[in-house]
Amino acid sequence: MNRRQFLQQSAILGLAAGTTACAGRALRLAEKNVNILYSSRYLPKLDITLDRVVKETVGLRPYRTLGPRIEKEPLGEYKTLVHNYGHGGSGWSLSWGSADLVADLVATTQERHIAVIGCGVIGLTTALTLQRRGYAVTIYTKEMAPDITSSKATGTWSPAHRLIDQGKETPTFYEQFKRAHNYSFRQYQNMLGLGDYVVWTDSYDIRQEKPLNLQEHWEERDSRFDFMKVMPAPVILKKKEHPFRAPAVIKHTTLVFNIPSLLKMYTDDFLRFGGKIKIQEFKSLENMDALPQRCIVNCTGIGAKALTQDECLLPIAGQLAFVIPQHYVHYRINTGETYTINRKDGIVVGGTHTVGSWDTTPKREDTERMVLAIKKVADEMYT
Ligand SMILES: Cc1cc2nc3c(=O)[nH]c(=O)nc-3n(C[C@H](O)[C@H](O)[C@H](O)COP(=O)(O)OP(=O)(O)OC[C@H]3O[C@@H](n4cnc5c(N)ncnc54)[C@H](O)[C@@H]3O)c2cc1C
Repeated sequence: MNRRQFLQQSAILGLAAGTTACAGRALRLAEKNVNILYSSRYLPKLDITLDRVVKETVGLRPYRTLGPRIEKEPLGEYKTLVHNYGHGGSGWSLSWGSADLVADLVATTQERHIAVIGCGVIGLTTALTLQRRGYAVTIYTKEMAPDITSSKATGTWSPAHRLIDQGKETPTFYEQFKRAHNYSFRQYQNMLGLGDYVVWTDSYDIRQEKPLNLQEHWEERDSRFDFMKVMPAPVILKKKEHPFRAPAVIKHTTLVFNIPSLLKMYTDDFLRFGGKIKIQEFKSLENMDALPQRCIVNCTGIGAKALTQDECLLPIAGQLAFVIPQHYVHYRINTGETYTINRKDGIVVGGTHTVGSWDTTPKREDTERMVLAIKKVADEMYT
């Protein structure tokens, strides 16, 4: 039943009850119910306080000033090394598409047994993509979830976040990025409805000033290139359309990845398809040369810095605070500096970007600042 039909039916019911006054009341009640059901005006309040924080993490985004490295090179006399690292703040978003690009490079080697180094989102999606193309794959890794960067990510669709230095985009980067973006987006749509692995969520940007140009706001929100406009366009909400006490609220809709369950599903699928995982740390590329496989895919994230001495690769540290999950909260808030996202494993609060920092110890003052900023927004919400 659509809104108009619902209102009409409720009004008829009211009339049937006897008086015009009754009909008026029924109509108002129906209007209110419809608003509760369909509008963003009545969002449930976030229950967010410092004593509800149950976990804090710091992850190192593997940022490469020239963009992700997806290319192959010889390793020793007989082997091939294919790189797939340096996805910055976009690794979850671009993982499937990067894996597809890498699988094309692997296909040029004629090898059927492949070693994948690293068991983060990039390593796992690469391994699964290769299996789907018929390869026998072994993952070698120092660590697994939850001790990897991929477990310490927020988990939203952010395909261009901290991906490349502005102005460094080459035609190769553009082509790879476009393909990875489009392929990943399609892949995630195929996961909708398979439980809660991937879900669409409304996000509210809370601003002290109305943006003069919504197009600019959209571009700020990772839609720099035309092919990125696969997401619904943002809209500026009228005051009565949202519950926040703020001069400007912009709504857009985005994808959320429930990270722990996705990493588990990827790992389980990989093992079910006959893949093997071995815990092993590599101190150098020569170490990899000793592996039985002749084609090796390097998915070591920020670990690639020590292995390849890549001068373009640097960490951007990001801290998250996990608040006890609220399963009835299905929206995201972004104040510009701080954001929350609803995931199955918690209300995730984040917003730090410390360029060049290797420190993975959570700082209580960062948690306090972020949680209290969101608490203020929640406390001021109209109910
Ligand atoms: C706070 C934060 C928020 C983020 N939010 C988002 C988001 O919302 N959306 C998004 O798309 N992206 C986001 N990201 C970025 C995303 O998390 C990363 O781009 C992605 O996780 C990188 O994955 P990876 O597999 O390359 O690295 P990792 O997850 O670090 O995996 C690397 C693997 O390589 C192994 N390894 C490393 N060195 C060696 C070695 N020498 N020998 C053997 N094994 C080795 C490690 O043990 C690990 O298994 C965020 C990141 C952070 C920190």
